[in-house]
Amino acid sequence: MVKDLRDFDRQDMEDLIAELREPKYRSNQLFQWVHKHGAELVDEMTNLPLSLRSKIRERADIFHPKVLEKLTSKKDNTIKMLLEFSDGETVESVIMPNEAKKRCTVCVSTQVGCPVGCPFCASGSSGFIRNLRTGEIVSQVLIAKSMEKDETWKVTNVVFMGMGEPLLNYDAVLKSVRILNDPLGLNIGQRKITISTAGYVPGILKLAEEKLQVVLAVSLHSVENEVRDFLVPLNKKYPLEELAWALKEYSKKSGRRITFEYSLIEGLNDTIECAEKLAAFVSQFKANVNIIPLNPVDEFGFKRSSSSKIQNFAAVLRNKGVETSVREERGLDIEGACGQLRLRYLQ
Ligand code: SF4
Repeated sequence: MVKDLRDFDRQDMEDLIAELREPKYRSNQLFQWVHKHGAELVDEMTNLPLSLRSKIRERADIFHPKVLEKLTSKKDNTIKMLLEFSDGETVESVIMPNEAKKRCTVCVSTQVGCPVGCPFCASGSSGFIRNLRTGEIVSQVLIAKSMEKDETWKVTNVVFMGMGEPLLNYDAVLKSVRILNDPLGLNIGQRKITISTAGYVPGILKLAEEKLQVVLAVSLHSVENEVRDFLVPLNKKYPLEELAWALKEYSKKSGRRITFEYSLIEGLNDTIECAEKLAAFVSQFKANVNIIPLNPVDEFGFKRSSSSKIQNFAAVLRNKGVETSVREERGLDIEGACGQLRLRYLQ
């Protein structure tokens, strides 16, 4: 079976070149074509001899996803893409430029659909189809990279916060982190890479052993098991007490601080009392809180908390000494909620 070269890390490239009985330095050239220059065809690799290119093509190729839709926000230039892979499955990825600072964050999906099924999330609403391969994750960043030439920004940050639970697709996610971080590839700093989790405890414990400098973001949304069981159904399997224990292990082993993501939903988790309980929970860790004004999907019936409630909630946390930010809302005019564009496409 022909493999996707974007699934290959440096070792895989070396193994392929050795199998083809070619000099070792060719593997670095191949890696750079695939993961730095974002080649879409093996024939673009003009410093590789024709005979080598054809030998490579017998074993592997580049599986470049098709961009089915590309929406650009008139408000903040956020770009939302619907991508289709070779088996016809689709995911979203989002490009969030910061033109003033010449930076750009790419939000990538890791699964087609999501098995966690949070009731406010469009990604989870269509169920889980399959995990993405490493190459399908890396491709999302390479597509963003290919847009740099027409823009003033550069891809600097990657967040694994799109469709899917990254730690349930552990091996492909970790391999893509290492490829994106490779100095011969895009060389994106580990500290500029964020892996988000809904609280999959075995994945957090495994990640603690990796000696990586990535940011771990935990989608918390409530510190009461009853409410969190509803908002993040994974909580029924890994309740808050177990999650807190795993996060302490993670902090101890990695030395890294934790980011807690908290979506504020009208009438569900946005009272002053909720903020006080959140502050008490977070104070167990070296951590910061990122408050996310909910990006509502009409059909789901959840409402975003008012601006004043959001500000009051943040103030309670700050008064209790918790480092708190309120996430800037992006792409509201282009179906900004994760999974919304794909949902419309599937309908
Ligand atoms: S919020 Fe995240 S974990 Fe929950 S269903 Fe959506 S993609 Fe999955």
